Amino acid sequence: VRKLVIVLGDQLDLQSTALQGFDAAQDLVWMAEVREESTHVWSAKQRVAVFLSAMRHFADALLRQGLPVAYTRLDDPDNQGTLALQLAHAIARYQPVGLVLTAPGDWRVLQDLRAVAARHQLPLDLRDDTHFFSTVREFAAHAKGRKQLRLEYWYRELRHKHRILMDGDAPIGGQWNFDADNRESFGKQGPQNVPAPTRFAPDATTQAVIALVNTQFASHPGLLNSFGWPVTREQALVALQAFIAERLPLFGKYEDAMWAGEAWLYHSHLSCALNLKLLNPREVVQAAEDAYRSGHAPLAAVEGFIRQILGWREYVRGIYWTQMPSYLERNALDAQADLPAWYWTGDTDMACLQDAITQTLEHGYAHHIQRLMVTGLYALLRGVRPQAVHAWYLSVYVDAVEWVELPNTLGMGQFSDGGLMASKPYVASGKYIQRMSNHCAGCKYDPAQSTGPQACPFTTLYWDFLARHEYLLKKNPRMAMQLKNLARLDTDARAAIASQAQAHRGLPTRGP
Ligand code: FAD
Ligand code: SF4
Repeated sequence: VRKLVIVLGDQLDLQSTALQGFDAAQDLVWMAEVREESTHVWSAKQRVAVFLSAMRHFADALLRQGLPVAYTRLDDPDNQGTLALQLAHAIARYQPVGLVLTAPGDWRVLQDLRAVAARHQLPLDLRDDTHFFSTVREFAAHAKGRKQLRLEYWYRELRHKHRILMDGDAPIGGQWNFDADNRESFGKQGPQNVPAPTRFAPDATTQAVIALVNTQFASHPGLLNSFGWPVTREQALVALQAFIAERLPLFGKYEDAMWAGEAWLYHSHLSCALNLKLLNPREVVQAAEDAYRSGHAPLAAVEGFIRQILGWREYVRGIYWTQMPSYLERNALDAQADLPAWYWTGDTDMACLQDAITQTLEHGYAHHIQRLMVTGLYALLRGVRPQAVHAWYLSVYVDAVEWVELPNTLGMGQFSDGGLMASKPYVASGKYIQRMSNHCAGCKYDPAQSTGPQACPFTTLYWDFLARHEYLLKKNPRMAMQLKNLARLDTDARAAIASQAQAHRGLPTRGP
């Protein structure tokens, strides 16, 4: 073999740079299902199944194109269990003169594979990942010399450069941001006629994977009964078209809204297909822009959606690759509590958390506000160690790959980077959840109360968070209003909140 072309589980793209110049007469594609990728964090069954099924379908697609593939299955007798050992095994067997790899999404995987290449004294041809609009080098150039990084400026730069929603040099509609038109709640009547999500019945390949995961990872979190994710490019394209036709027009309006028992709402559910590279962000952004230009969807919805992909998705990738590996260890608020065990079961009497976690374990999915302002907010207010929060998010979602999960969790959700990524901690009391959902109406707690038996734990912990971090937060002008409200609480009120917060955390309350 001349070149062993490595294709990782989140690189399932026939156009990927690693496959360019591939010569079927001399080269070999190498893919491997290894246990370590599902156990280095306690991966939920949905996440494991989506990766394995999509990998098997992609290997079939390569074979159909006439590309030879060396594919190791999880239960193959000679499976070595880790990417590094499996690759070493393949090198011994095929004796390639070089390795080819598109830059992976995980820092850890890059280090492991580089080490294997070095150990075998094989050249590693590491190629740019052109799936993204930007390169990490471009992000680094943008970040250079800036004291603070902000999404908005990076997003505008990319809008300009790639001519997206532009009218000459100006943004279409005269403004860059339509947030003020978005973010409504469903009101008292709740969501009406939400289109059914686009789900795909498991074929024989997926069924075999489901059986394998249920056997090999029986103790891992979550369920596979409802598995319906797109696992091929064809399915991903169907899901994209259905989103544009059915959900995009109301995407912006209800972007932040939640409703008990409603997992899907007006979101696209495309993150998994995007992160596995079954879909290209360019085609997703183009389809959304076309929907605006043809009059199918309003500008506020389309801009809001494009901002997530062209803006946030590219931004967090830049943060990850410019900050790793030290980013993993950041803990600016010195949070040291354990993650409550019920994050892995949903067994809590807090209705909003119960709903978000149950849905997560059932489908491997929750939308952004559920992640940020329910599970993320609670962990932040409780003071959970960010690395434990990170392990949870990386485990439970079908779209979880470290380059995107880590900055969202540590930077946006937990403020662990001290404000590098977000201009302030996303903190709110239970009243935010009450405003954006119907959860509180069905909950034993009351978001308006911070102490007493009915007090909503979010509200108690919110005031306690502000009080615990008052000194640090005072330096941030964007926290001024929240701290002004804190200052209205007298000493007795503060003490009562502090002791209720301690009791909620299961810690002994402080003495007088
Ligand atoms: P939509 O609401 O339809 O948004 C459209 C697309 O925009 C998404 O498919 C996604 O590709 C992109 N997008 C939206 N928000 C973000 C964001 N903040 N960062 C990057 N891309 C974004 N997203 C992941 O893809 N993988 C993760 O592991 C992940 N972990 C997260 C952890 C936390 C704590 C938080 C707060 C957010 C996380 N996100 C993650 C971002 C976001 O929540 C998901 O991308 C989104 O909920 C996926 O659902 P969707 O496809 O229906 O998104
Ligand atoms: Fe969540 Fe508090 Fe509302 Fe209950 S009262 S649903 S815990 S925000």
